[in-house]
Amino acid sequence: MEAENRKRTAAIVLAAGNGKRMESNIKKQYMLIGDKPVIYYSLRAFQESFVDEIVLVVSPGDVSYCKKEIVEKYGFDKVSSIVEGGKERYHSVFQGLSSLTFCDYVFIHDGARPMLTVKILERLYSCVLKYGACVAGMPVKDTIKIADKNHNIVSTPDRRLVFMVQTPQVFEYDLIKNAYDNLMENEQEFLENGIAITDDAMVVETFTGHRVKLVEGSYENIKITTPEDISIAEKFLGLS
Ligand code: C5P
Repeated sequence: MEAENRKRTAAIVLAAGNGKRMESNIKKQYMLIGDKPVIYYSLRAFQESFVDEIVLVVSPGDVSYCKKEIVEKYGFDKVSSIVEGGKERYHSVFQGLSSLTFCDYVFIHDGARPMLTVKILERLYSCVLKYGACVAGMPVKDTIKIADKNHNIVSTPDRRLVFMVQTPQVFEYDLIKNAYDNLMENEQEFLENGIAITDDAMVVETFTGHRVKLVEGSYENIKITTPEDISIAEKFLGLS
């Protein structure tokens, strides 16, 4: 690629959650898969990819631990800053976005998804150049039901149109920054309406008129959530 046409890409790797569903004293991002912590694997994928810069978002108080025990220990020299996240995932994303100075595109990734590959990043990158906003996802295999609060089934969506959404989610920087600035200005209204903000595409869908495109992720690109997910990831990685 010509130097002047080259787009600058950054990744925000989120690791500021407290992993309540893991039932462990160790936060899930630091639990071991094989002999490496969960977040090692997605940082390695970004480090080995075409991405120029990585911002790592960690829990308040964990910055120096992550600097020493993860970033320096494994030589992740693309990590340009380690910042403290916030109460909810979207606060952590906002902190990450605010710490980036100049980039054209930003990949937002859950550090709890260790099965990220450079191939997935490449598919997302080709897509974002064309569409400006893309998320990794896979078609659902099961039939999905929409239920009411009492768990009575209300409807059955056409399975061919239902996807499980994953991360990375990648956006033009100005688009996602503008969407998140808007969210933070209107946060109170969202909280009052009881709407949970669970991914970045939702922020773009809600606050901009921009469409978000789905890109093939992988069925292996699981999010480590409960203890058995650690053994599943070890199997996928050929470590057990
Ligand atoms: O809790 P959940 O598994 O949905 O979190 C998804 C990702 O977002 C995880 O990588 C987690 O560390 C991160 N997160 C965060 N800040 C929060 C909550 C979650 O960085 N306040």
